Amino acid sequence: MAQEHIKSMIELFDSLSVAGETVKDEDGVVYLLASLPDSYSVLVTALEANEEVPKLETVIERILHEERKFQEKKPVSYTRENAMTSHGFSKSKPRAKCFHCGKYGHIKKCCRDLKTEKRVTRRKRNDLQHLGMRLRRLHRRTQIVRMKC
Ligand SMILES: [Zn+2]
Repeated sequence: MAQEHIKSMIELFDSLSVAGETVKDEDGVVYLLASLPDSYSVLVTALEANEEVPKLETVIERILHEERKFQEKKPVSYTRENAMTSHGFSKSKPRAKCFHCGKYGHIKKCCRDLKTEKRVTRRKRNDLQHLGMRLRRLHRRTQIVRMKC
């Protein structure tokens, strides 16, 4: 699934460069990260925390790796919940279930996932606006060049 998404994004970048708007690796990374579903927010946050923008290939590799992890995750989380019960964690706390992430032990209002996602969404929007501005500027420049001819 992620593979198809990446493919369509790369095709989009290619079609942009055909139109004369070279999409730099850096822009591609920002765009690709911003287009990922919320389930990738942990990976996106980790990649955005890097001081240097990671290479496009690295990002693609990480996304595919993350997808593989999702597929293997289901039985693991079940075991983890069992282990928690045996340690008595869930007995001492009321079994509140979060309507956002579906985990037990907290409610949606206190959900850390939700808070992270909100922050990431805001950053994504900023990044996308920035990218949009750059693309528009590039577009304008290419039009001027065309008029000269
Ligand atoms: Zn939650």
